[in-house]
Amino acid sequence: EKLLKIRKLNCNAMTMKVTNYKKPLFIHHGFMQWLWDVDGSRYLDMYAGIATVSQGHCHPKVTKAAQEQLQRLWHTSAIYVHPPIQEYVEKLVSHLPEPLNVVYLTNSGSEANDLALLMARLHTGNFDAITLRGSYHGGSPLTMGLTSNTVYKYPVPSSPGCYNTMCPDVFRGLWGGSHCRDSPVQTIRECSCPPDQCHANERYLEQLEEVFITSVPSRIAAFFAEPIQGLGGIVQYPKNFLKEAYKLVREKGGLCIADEVQTGFGRTGSHFWGFQSHDVVPDIVTMAKGIANGFPMGAVVTSEEIAHSFAKGLHFNTFGGNPLACSIASAVLDTIKEERIQENCAVVGTHLLKELAKLRDKYEIIGDVRGKGLHIGVEMVTDKASRDPLPPEAMIHIMEDTKDMGVLVGRGGIYGQTFRIQPPMCITKEDADFFLAVFDQALNNYMERR
Ligand code: PMP
Repeated sequence: EKLLKIRKLNCNAMTMKVTNYKKPLFIHHGFMQWLWDVDGSRYLDMYAGIATVSQGHCHPKVTKAAQEQLQRLWHTSAIYVHPPIQEYVEKLVSHLPEPLNVVYLTNSGSEANDLALLMARLHTGNFDAITLRGSYHGGSPLTMGLTSNTVYKYPVPSSPGCYNTMCPDVFRGLWGGSHCRDSPVQTIRECSCPPDQCHANERYLEQLEEVFITSVPSRIAAFFAEPIQGLGGIVQYPKNFLKEAYKLVREKGGLCIADEVQTGFGRTGSHFWGFQSHDVVPDIVTMAKGIANGFPMGAVVTSEEIAHSFAKGLHFNTFGGNPLACSIASAVLDTIKEERIQENCAVVGTHLLKELAKLRDKYEIIGDVRGKGLHIGVEMVTDKASRDPLPPEAMIHIMEDTKDMGVLVGRGGIYGQTFRIQPPMCITKEDADFFLAVFDQALNNYMERR
């Protein structure tokens, strides 16, 4: 009853809608990788509030930094500078390659992408933006135009000037077409071309070029891409795709924007930022989620040159860069370093990927296991040959079962067919093994009943 009342009063209580648990979870408290509901049941959190609580729930050092700042200063707005913002901006910039050294602080990822698009429009004098199909870049009226994942779009006209192109997906390939011109197979995994001679990227780049020809001739302001798609279902692009796409966009006069809202702050294990594994340096980087371990915050980082064209106008944000957010975000950066969280992400992530691959070989309904670090997707299919997405009822059934056994996972993909494993980055190998045992059991239960 309490839950129904909350859902009526607060449309943000989306538990039922997005995860579709039959009985919504009513969480009371959390510590590190664990959550407890109001009835005292404990869950291993393998989703971290959508890849956000990266240090762990109520992480002691981050909590201490917040408590200390709460007693000193909460808010000044952007009219004064304060030590936490100065300290934070310096620390953040030290994690980015040159020439990315100008920081604008926001309160969310949507706001960060809004601002990035505005910057790109002012800098280039152009208007249009291109994103990849299946992507999610925000829920504000403007970023909803950039978001192409239809699950999160409302049936109202999209914001003008936003176009999307085919998403190069190493598992599904070009939907409905062959992946490589020289081979009839659908995906890069099955393609027998030697990697350096495969034409897969050419197919995708042709698609991107087509958008330039048909929709945005010489009007491109920005190309947005997540280094690995998050809500889209942890979709990875073929090697060199992003590098080639950046080249093409820049030739046409646009800026390249890396949306690091999910992939930033060490989540992919091998690098601090997702774009680093594509061997590119974006013109603008946007970030949020893991930036402050669950405290609302976002940021846009760019070069002085781009910031200069933007600085002609006044950018005002009442809460962006407030002392509390900056102190928390500073403690997050310190913790990543001191507790070797990125390294843990790489080690536990590699273990998970290896063990999940064994489950893929065991179960007909696991089509693909992919990702990097603790940014992992398990794509579910009705059978390996057809690759038809496992229907939502089946996905929910499995999720419900893992929940009953004490493990929470996420879900994404354009058909909602991919389990998302994006836990707090502090999880141990033992936690991973507990998750694997529960997931194995839930799949087994489903197969027996199906
Ligand atoms: N970009 C990406 C890649 C995201 O995953 C999200 C949120 N899921 C956003 C932008 C928007 O962030 P927020 O919800 O903080 O506005």
